[in-house]
Amino acid sequence: MGGAGQRRTGGRTVADAERTAWRRRSTVRVVPPARPRKLAKVPFVELADGRLQGVVSSGSDVDRVYVSSIAAGTHAYHCSTNNNRPCGGLRGAPCKHLHALVDEALLQYGADRVARYLRADLADGAGTAGELLAALDARHEPTPAAVVFSRFLRHLSYLELPGSTVPLPELHWFPATGAGR
Ligand SMILES: [Zn+2]
Repeated sequence: MGGAGQRRTGGRTVADAERTAWRRRSTVRVVPPARPRKLAKVPFVELADGRLQGVVSSGSDVDRVYVSSIAAGTHAYHCSTNNNRPCGGLRGAPCKHLHALVDEALLQYGADRVARYLRADLADGAGTAGELLAALDARHEPTPAAVVFSRFLRHLSYLELPGSTVPLPELHWFPATGAGR
């Protein structure tokens, strides 16, 4: 899914779209997840723009999310809040959010596809986040969070298309609904 949605924010700024999305969440109805994925923890993950990237919930603050990414080829990684505040967990190694992102990507896409996309040399049979991260020639390199975060917001607005009767497991994440506890 995704990718087909048109940019709906028009001339508005990302900040406007962000505020709208945060406001919307309080009215969203929650349905049970279709698959046992950790959507409360990682509501958005994709292989796009030459990166494995996504949005990871803060473990401690329900109102905070982190944008984490790993570039294909160079394996440069980064993690920050959606407001570009650097993640305190990055101390010369990928933080727990990057681990969670890779975990989720492995569930969603499978180890082979993730390794191929990142151009990582994953040993046969290896398939955990730790093994994948260890196979990367990783280094930290700051990347703006705004692009990934606005893709996440577009992903959500895509989910809000009217007339849909399919379950929307991604919305399970929203804390205002009482889900994900
Ligand atoms: Zn982090």
